[in-house]
Amino acid sequence: MKNLLLTPFEKAPFEHIETSHFKPAFEKAIQEARSEIDHITNTSKAPTFKNTIEALEFSGAHLDRLSSLFFNLNSAETSEELQQLAQEISPMLTEFSNDIALNTLLFQRVEAVYELRGTLSLSGEEEMLLEKKYKFFSRNGAHLSLEEKNRLRAIDKELAQLKLTFGEHVLAETNSFEMHLTKEEQIEGLPEGAREAASQLAASKGKEGWVITLDYPSYIPFMTYASNRELRKKLSIAFGSKGFHKDKLDNQEIVLKIANLRHERASLLGYESHAHFVLEERMAETPGKVKSFLDELLEKAKPAAVIEFDELKDFAFQIDGIKELYKWDGSYYAEKLKQQRFNLDDEKLKPYFKLEKVIDGVFKIAHSLYGLSFNEVDDVETYHKDVKTYEVTDKDGRNVALLYADFHPRPGKRGGAWMTSYKPQYQKEGVNERPHISIVCNFTKPTSSKPSLLTFNEVTTLFHEFGHALHGMLANTTYPSLSGTSVYWDFVELPSQIMENWCFEKEALQLFAHHFETGESLPMELINKIKESANFQEGMATLRQLSFGFLDMAWHAQDPSTIKDVKKLELDTFKDTMLFPDTPETCMSTAFSHIFQGGYSAGYYSYKWAEVLDADAFAYFKEKGIFSKEVAQKFKEYILSKGGTEKPMSLYKKFRGSEPKLEALLERAGLLKKTG
Ligand SMILES: [Zn+2]
Repeated sequence: MKNLLLTPFEKAPFEHIETSHFKPAFEKAIQEARSEIDHITNTSKAPTFKNTIEALEFSGAHLDRLSSLFFNLNSAETSEELQQLAQEISPMLTEFSNDIALNTLLFQRVEAVYELRGTLSLSGEEEMLLEKKYKFFSRNGAHLSLEEKNRLRAIDKELAQLKLTFGEHVLAETNSFEMHLTKEEQIEGLPEGAREAASQLAASKGKEGWVITLDYPSYIPFMTYASNRELRKKLSIAFGSKGFHKDKLDNQEIVLKIANLRHERASLLGYESHAHFVLEERMAETPGKVKSFLDELLEKAKPAAVIEFDELKDFAFQIDGIKELYKWDGSYYAEKLKQQRFNLDDEKLKPYFKLEKVIDGVFKIAHSLYGLSFNEVDDVETYHKDVKTYEVTDKDGRNVALLYADFHPRPGKRGGAWMTSYKPQYQKEGVNERPHISIVCNFTKPTSSKPSLLTFNEVTTLFHEFGHALHGMLANTTYPSLSGTSVYWDFVELPSQIMENWCFEKEALQLFAHHFETGESLPMELINKIKESANFQEGMATLRQLSFGFLDMAWHAQDPSTIKDVKKLELDTFKDTMLFPDTPETCMSTAFSHIFQGGYSAGYYSYKWAEVLDADAFAYFKEKGIFSKEVAQKFKEYILSKGGTEKPMSLYKKFRGSEPKLEALLERAGLLKKTG
């Protein structure tokens, strides 16, 4: 088949792609991108915004399209060959991007334009682009001396290795533990599905009975349902002591090293701490702001959390005579209390959430808020026959976007749900190029006798991803790297999380939550139960999230060289958030992969931050009506269409009229009611 990936394409030519097409296409696209960069640096003309910054922005466009296509496929429809190819392609791309970061001639031109920025009368968007390009170089050490640059590279190399080792230790600790059970009474309380999985696992290891491990699908049901307290304790301590056994898999030295190297790196680049470095490109801006955010939330949430904890203690005492509640009792009694209070399970709700109806509902809501129409089309190439395609138009019938939707699991598709794009939105030479957006989920497939019925959690997931998709589809900027979801990290979940709110509103549910057999609307009583149970023990959950946020900042917002004892740091940090007594055998940091392995360092706060934003923004809708055209218009104009063309706080204030406040979240989470 002819290789259509060698030259720029409009829609992704899915049905004409062979795996062997990718490598030559990448080689060619990288070469093209290199010559575009050379063209910028080789000119004798003085650097200008247009010939340097804008030229850099539009360079490598074909390579970007190709990368999106390749990595999206590797997530949604992968194969062994594609995975192997990714091992070859990824280093090629890393090398290319490192070469740009280290290109001195290019940096000199970018810096020259940056120095002149006050005199160039740039638009707001142009200023953001200039800053973004300049920071890309400066945050990678472009202005350092050769010696400092070498130190920076050495730190980066060591950090990469340490993170890898950290992760390997956590994985090895997870895999090395198993709890082999042979007596029926040891698994008392476990639901049928969890029993079956545990017995299958035992059988696969050639053992009798049941095996429980530290993997979430095994660990979570056991902690939630198993009535044997001693075994829950054993499992909980095993889970909480990963990387904390003073043996060759211990992570204490490693986290100390990671924190100190991050601090040294930040100092080299001229920042007070790693958190200062990270937060420079976040909506929260400074560690001070993050800490006062966490403090304020703690102050507001703690009274409710204490009340909930007392309730839980009383409940455990009443039913089992438990005098002191430990961590391994938390999920178990919480589940029992929740059942007693709400008696709400997925099976009761699922008949009201037929997939097709829910999709139709989310489209109706988008139509009512933003005037969008979705027409399913069948002449667009896809990577699998299950993928649906929609042409999205505005109220005047103009093309807004192409939407791909891929709803069901199959081999070769990664778990979870996500939104991504195959083509960004941007404007060039007077043409507003419209984006190609995709949402991918893993909802139960329909069978010949039963349609696909969603759990409530799946319904909110669909709304969430659709919110990201709206951010992509309604993008209306000039530069692709500032378009759609290309915004600061603690701002990107606002458009997605706000959409989830409509799932809890009667007016919205009426549009789509009808029983798939009888057509009956979801009863009000169930809607109320959904709302209440969503807030169950929200105070305790908030305290838990805050404790992780505080720990993250304790590691990253100051010079960590004074930290000698990891466990002591945790005890000091958790002082105000701790409800259960401490378990001396356990340690959080030594298995805190989010911040020591993944990308959440100095960023854990953003989970709660995003909730505050979406609650505050949705409160505005509630005030004026959840289908208010006025509020929707503002949300579209200042948030959904603007991408990263302005600082998020300034966009937010234009939308809302003021900075986000905590009250809406506290109100929604039911935390105000409890404390009066
Ligand atoms: Zn999201």
